[in-house]
Amino acid sequence: MSDRPSTAPSFGIDEYSLLLEENERLREQMRELLRQAKENEGKKRRFDQLELQLIGAESFAELFSLLSHDYRSTFKLEYLSLALIDPRQELETLITSTDSPAKKYQGLIFLPHPQKLTTLFPFPPVPWLGAYQPRQHYYLFPGCSPEPASIALLPLKRRENMIGSLNLGSTQPERYANDGHVDFLSHLCSVVSMCLENTLNHERLKKVALTDPLTGIFNRGFFDRRVKDEVSRTHRYGQPLTCLFCDLDHFKNINDQWGHQAGDRVLREIAGIINTHLRRSDIFARYGGEEFVVLLPHTDSSAGREIAERIRKNIAGHDFKLAGSQAIRVTISIGVATLRSETAERERPSAPEQLIRAADQALLEAKENGRNQVVGAGNI
Ligand code: GH3
Ligand code: MG
Ligand code: MG
Repeated sequence: MSDRPSTAPSFGIDEYSLLLEENERLREQMRELLRQAKENEGKKRRFDQLELQLIGAESFAELFSLLSHDYRSTFKLEYLSLALIDPRQELETLITSTDSPAKKYQGLIFLPHPQKLTTLFPFPPVPWLGAYQPRQHYYLFPGCSPEPASIALLPLKRRENMIGSLNLGSTQPERYANDGHVDFLSHLCSVVSMCLENTLNHERLKKVALTDPLTGIFNRGFFDRRVKDEVSRTHRYGQPLTCLFCDLDHFKNINDQWGHQAGDRVLREIAGIINTHLRRSDIFARYGGEEFVVLLPHTDSSAGREIAERIRKNIAGHDFKLAGSQAIRVTISIGVATLRSETAERERPSAPEQLIRAADQALLEAKENGRNQVVGAGNI
C-alpha cells in the first residue's frame, strides 16, 4: 500500500499566494545567480584574453601598461601599483635607462629594502586581502586620494624568492574581504610573476645588446636610435639639443707605449670621468674606438661648451695609474654643436645627421688647432 495521500492536498487561498510569492522569490534568486554566473563567465573570458596578452608582452613597458591600464579598467579597479624589490637599483636602471625617451611609470615602486615588503606577508608568501592600513601600506599606494578601503597584495616570486608585489586597491570595503577571490588572485599572481621575470630577462638582453662591453656605457646602436628621439623632442618642446663629440688625443701612442690592456683601462676610466659630469637625462655612448659622444637635451650652445670644457680639464688633470706606480696623463679634444628647435623641425629627417656632422667637424678643427681643446660649431 502506498503511503502517499490518495487525494491532492487542498490549499487555502492564503497558502496558495504564499507559495506563489515563495516561488517568485526563488525565481528571482535563480535569475540573480544566472546573471552572476554570466557576469563571472564574461569576467573569466576577459581575464583569459588579458592573460594571453600578458604572456605575450615583449617588454616591461608593455606588461606594465597591460596591468595598469587594461587590467585596471577591465576589472573596474581604482588603484594598482607594482612594487619591485631592488636593493642595488639594478631594475630601476634596467627599466628606465633604455626607454626612449625616459618613460613615466605611474604606480611603479622600487624598494631598496626587501623587508619593507616581505614583512607584510606570511611565509611562504600568499596573497593578502583585507582593510587598507595607512601606516603599513601607504608606500604601496602613494598619492591615492581617496585612500583605498580594501586592498589585495599579491606576492610576486621568482624561484620561491619574493621579487615584488602587485597591489590592488578598491574604495569598496567589501571588495577585498579576507576570504574572497583568493583562487583567482593566486592565479593572477603566478601569471604576473612569470611574465615579470620573462620581460625583465628580455630587458636584460636588450641592455646587453645596447651596451659597450669594455666601458659599460651605451654603444653606437643605442645612440643612433636615441638621437632621433631626442631630435623629435627638441622640436616638440622647443628646446635646444647639444652634442659633444669627443676623441682621445694620440691614443695610438698609449697603446704602443703601454700596451693594449693599459689602453683599455684608460678608456674605461675616461668613460667614468665623463659620466660624472652628466645628468641622468643625458645620453652618453661609445661611438667608436676612442671616440665618445654625448647628447645634452635642453642645453644651449654656451652651456654645452662649459660642460665640454669641464670634462676636458678634468681629464687633462687626471693621473691615469698604469702598471706599477706609473701614472700618465691623457688629453681629449671635443667638438660641440647645438641643434635649434626650428632646425629640428625644418630639417626633420636629416637633422640628427647634421648635428653629429657639425660636432664632428668642430672636433676636427680642435685636432687641427693642436688638440686638448674644445671647439664650438655654434647653433645649426
Ligand atoms: P688623434 O689625436 O689624431 O685622434 O690620434 P689617435 O692616435 O688618437 O688616433 P688614431 O685614429 O690614429 O688611433 C686611434 C687608436 O685607438 C688606435 C686604436 O688602436 C685605438 N683603439 C681603438 N679602440 C680601442 C680599444 O678598444 N682598446 C684600446 N686599447 N685601443 C683602442
Ligand atoms: Mg679617433
Ligand atoms: Mg684619437
